[in-house]
Formats: sequence, structure tokens, C-alpha cells
Amino acid sequence: MIGLISATAAGTAARDRLAAAWPDRTRVYKGDVAGAVRTAFAECEGLVCFLATGAVVRMVAPLLSDKRSDPGVVCVDEAGRFAVSLLGGHGGGANALAGEVGAVLGAEPVITTATDAAGLPGLDTLGLPVEGDLAAVSRALLDGEPVALAVDTPWPLPPLPVAEAGEYTIRSTDRLVRPTAREVVLRPPSLVVGVGASRGVSEDEVTALVEAALREAGLAAASVAALATVDAKADEAGIVAAAERMGVPLVAHPAETLARVAVPNPSRAPLAAVGTPSVAEAAALVDGGELLVPKRRSVRADGSPARATCAVARRPVRGRLAVVGLGPGARDLLTPRAVAELRGASVLVGLDQYVDQIRDLLRPGTRVLASGLGAEEERARAAVSEARRGHAVALIGSGDAGVYAMASPALAEAGDDIDVVGVPGVTAALAASAVLGAPLGHDHVSVSLSDLHTPWEVIERRVRAAAESDLVVTFYNPRSRGRDRHLTRALAVLAAHRAPTTPVGVVRNASRADESSLLTTLAEVDPTVVDMLTVVTVGNSATREIAGRMVTPRGYRWQRPEVTR
Ligand code: SAH
Repeated sequence: MIGLISATAAGTAARDRLAAAWPDRTRVYKGDVAGAVRTAFAECEGLVCFLATGAVVRMVAPLLSDKRSDPGVVCVDEAGRFAVSLLGGHGGGANALAGEVGAVLGAEPVITTATDAAGLPGLDTLGLPVEGDLAAVSRALLDGEPVALAVDTPWPLPPLPVAEAGEYTIRSTDRLVRPTAREVVLRPPSLVVGVGASRGVSEDEVTALVEAALREAGLAAASVAALATVDAKADEAGIVAAAERMGVPLVAHPAETLARVAVPNPSRAPLAAVGTPSVAEAAALVDGGELLVPKRRSVRADGSPARATCAVARRPVRGRLAVVGLGPGARDLLTPRAVAELRGASVLVGLDQYVDQIRDLLRPGTRVLASGLGAEEERARAAVSEARRGHAVALIGSGDAGVYAMASPALAEAGDDIDVVGVPGVTAALAASAVLGAPLGHDHVSVSLSDLHTPWEVIERRVRAAAESDLVVTFYNPRSRGRDRHLTRALAVLAAHRAPTTPVGVVRNASRADESSLLTTLAEVDPTVVDMLTVVTVGNSATREIAGRMVTPRGYRWQRPEVTR
């Protein structure tokens, strides 16, 4: 919950705008301002104070305890010009909150945390547990001192401006190493602890067993991603409580699944009890990976039989491939989600002209694999193999990366061993449609006239089908130097089924600096004005030009007749 506090009339007006924009996220604290701040500070994860920074500093100072638990505090000035991240920039989320508040109120976010201001990811914002001298290593990164990245345990990290070697080190490991001075240790969630137990096992017995197994194998508890067991033990109180105490989820698998996992130490007892020859080892290894601690049993002080078993595996790293559409060209048609993916990727793969389009957004340390036209398969393969090695990869394409673009060759290469996220982009047909008016108001198709991957006979058959079905058609890749007859032929196929007066919209470089467009008709369209930076949209039998705009009626019965005149 975000607590909102104001004192003046102007502040209260701004507060109410924010409360109206985020009804479920915010709570208004009224009455005596100091009391309201105190209550909100105790109850909320974030505070937005429509008050002077000085006043807020004095009020929250006695309330501060720890930057990991204190709420983030944002101040908005009387004129609503600035949203100042005052406290808890990273841990409290105030930097992000200042940005969001700024977006709602039209205020400029003011961020003074050094890493954010320099476009570096804060080492405490990577979503991984961190140990060591965060302040010293962050400072070294900011000052441009050489910081080395030592990866024992790969993980899809965001880009970091690291050097081959340096006095400072960022280490990614699940090994139980103590950070040296000038070192930060990141703990990727790479370990899975399989647990088996007989009924009535105590939480202490499970926890002691798991802790000893990790410690003796030299593994960090902070890298444990989950406890895993068999379905029949999903409610076993001692296991549930142990997972809770370790702060990790408990994952349960069906016995049939576990029975199929090859393990070094199967035994008869669990087979009889729960239907799989191994619980601990099989549950640890269910997603593959490497067994680091084979099955071991708990030790009971009174010498009675052990009630718990555990085994530890390192699961295979899952890299992340984001397939990101950049939109048609204009920066403000690039979605915030796309920007976040571009900035979170340590490897960027794309056509060189698209890379240039967004290079300014990349964070320092991003590895860029740019290639020229035509190297599609190679780009797809490079992106997937980088993700397989455990990196966070962004594969970019113009418009939507899934429309006549990189998503299909990439996903044809990708297995289920990597995570894939798609970020949709505004495709050329939509960008052009917005320029032309409302040509896509009823059923429509896109057809690429490129015969690079598709024989012309197939393309022509599809155009004919669209013509016969009275669909609005948008042609992508309409015409290039070696291929100047296709568009003429495609238009002729449509003309055989539609009136010569059917509107045709030609849009070149939609949303880019040199955008141009032309509204003409099937009878009059001149294919020579069309090139590869253009899309051509042909209306259906109801499409009209109205006030210079191309309009396809929705065709429903409630449509007023004057619109379809
Ligand atoms: N993935 C892209 C399409 C790639 S195919 C998308 O979703 O938009 C390349 C073709 O798209 C070009 O030949 C052209 O026909 C069209 N195109 C891409 N961007 C365009 C733009 N800004 N304006 C007009 N046409 C564009």
C-alpha cells in the first residue's frame, strides 16, 4: 500500500488525483501531518508526501530503522513539478515510485541514487541475494574503476560494465565463499534441495539435515531456490515449516514423475510407501542438473531411526530470451516494456540498423551482436545459443518482432531449456492504419510480397483468396528493385474483384522523421512510388474516402447510414 499525505489545498488536489489514478494501491492519511506520516510509515511500503522535503526529513528521521525494511518515501512539491525520491531509492522502491508518480502527475522524477543516475543497475536491485561490500563495489563501478565479473554459477544478469580483471570483483556463485574486501557475492537461486521424510518428522530435524548438507558440501543457503518432495509429502508439517523457515517455496512432484528420474541411490522403502524408489534425489534432480549432495539421512540425538532424507542438486541455468518489437520507428511508439527488456539484457542481438535505433537506451556493459541484412538464421541461432549459455538476451526486430521477423526463426531453434518472453510492438500495418484513418475497421489480412521464403504462386493464391473474401489487405515487403512486378500483379488480382474506386493507402516510413502517405484508388495507384520502406493497404468493397481519410465501416447493422455513405 502507498500512503498519501498532504497539508495544503494544492497538495491535497494533487494527492486526490493520485488516489483516483491508483484506487487500489493508495490510502489517504488525513489529520495532523506528523501523526499521519508516522502511521503511514509504519503501515505502508511507500509514502508520497505532498510536502516540503525538509519537513518530511524532520518527520521521518526518528522513524528510520533499516534501508531494507523502511518504506520508500517520495516528496511532491507544492506546484507538482517534481517527484523527489527522498528515501529508500532501491530497497524501498522510491526511485521507481517517483517515476510512476511523475507519470501520473506530469512531474519530473528527481533521482539522486548514483547508480540510477548513471544508468547502472544497482547491485541490490538484481533480484538476487547479495553479500559483501556493496557500497565499495558500486562506487568502483560508478567511478569507472576496473571491476571483474567472476561467474562460477551462471545466471541471466543484466549488463554490468565489467573488465577482464580488476581490484574489485562481482562474483556469482552458490559456493559458500566469504566475500573478500572489495568483493560482492551474488547468490543465484541455483540449488534445489530434495527432501523425503516419514510421517510426523519435526521441522528441526528437516532443517538441521538440510543445513548440515549444505554446509558440509560448501554450498550457500542463500542460493537455494526451492525444497522439493513427492506429492504425498506436500502437506507434511515438518517439511512445510522447514521451507517456510528457509524462506523458499516447497515444490511437490507426482510419484510417477520422480520414479522416472535416474538416481544413484534408489531404495525399496519409499517405493513401498509412496510409489517411487527415490524421493530426495529424484526431487532434487527432476529438472536435470548435477547432484552435489547424494541422499543423506538425518541424525537423531537418541539414536532412533532417521525420519528425514535430503539431497542437493544444482539445476541447469535457464537463460532468458526476450524477443522485443521496437515499433515502427518513433521513440514514443517504443513501449516501456520493450525499454525495460533492452536495459535488462546483457546481450543484444539484431540487425545493425535496428541496433542503431536504440543504442542510446542500452546500459553500459551490454554486449551487442549486430549483423547485416540477410543474416536472419545466424542472428536467431546466436541469440538462442547466448541464452542457452545462461545470459539475458534481447533479440530485436522493427514493428512487432513476431511479424515477418525474428521471432519464428529464433523459436524454431529454441528448446524448453531457456525462458522466452515476447514483447509486442506496433507493427507497420497498424502504424500505417493510424496515418491513413481507419482502414482496418473490419476483417483484414497482411500479405508479404517477398518471394524470398515463399513461392510466388502461393503468394498469389493467398491474394486471390483475400480478394474473393472481400478482406482489407495490407502488403508488407511490397516492392524492391529485383522484384517490381509482384505488387502490380497483386493489385490486378484485387482489381478483378473490387471497384476501380476502392481506396488504396500507401504509407512510407510510418512514424519516422520522413513519413509520407498517399490515399489513392485501385485504378490510379502508381506502383513505382512504392518501395521496401512502404506498406500498401487496399480497402474492401465498403471502404470509403471520407474527408481525406480511409475508412472501412464496421459493417454492423447499428452503423448509422451516413457513416457508410
Ligand atoms: N516486423 C515488421 C515487419 C518486417 S517486414 C513489423 O512488424 O512492422 C519489412 C516490411 O515492413 C517493409 O518492407 C515494409 O513493408 C514494412 N514496414 C516496416 N516498418 C515500416 C514503416 N515504419 N513504415 C512503413 N512500412 C514499414
